[in-house]
Amino acid sequence: MKCTQCGSDNLLNDLRVVDRGEDNSKGDLQIEMELNPQAMLFTKPVSTSLTATMCCLCGNVMFSAPPSFATNLKEILANKEAGKNPTKHPLYQTFLSADSSRKYLEPNDIASKFGAWLHKHKK
Ligand SMILES: [Zn+2]
Repeated sequence: MKCTQCGSDNLLNDLRVVDRGEDNSKGDLQIEMELNPQAMLFTKPVSTSLTATMCCLCGNVMFSAPPSFATNLKEILANKEAGKNPTKHPLYQTFLSADSSRKYLEPNDIASKFGAWLHKHKK
């Protein structure tokens, strides 16, 4: 990894990024995304702590989230999109070709059957 500003590889990794609450309590700075932002109550927020990498030459600071958080979130969003429009999911054609009767499914059944199949397919 190199500094995005000056290109130096003289970096300090995995620095804790501290955030302070109203009572001056210490916590980690986090990123958060609501999976269901339209909901009144259960917006299903998912969050993770950030770590920072600082360049020892120019002081530029770069934030990182754990790669597993990024891949999980990407998968959650793909599955959510599949719930709205399953035909656009990258695995939809695999789902169809696994059982020829699936192309005769009613539109209302597609989302739930495809969702259940995706869930099993992951294991
Ligand atoms: Zn730099």
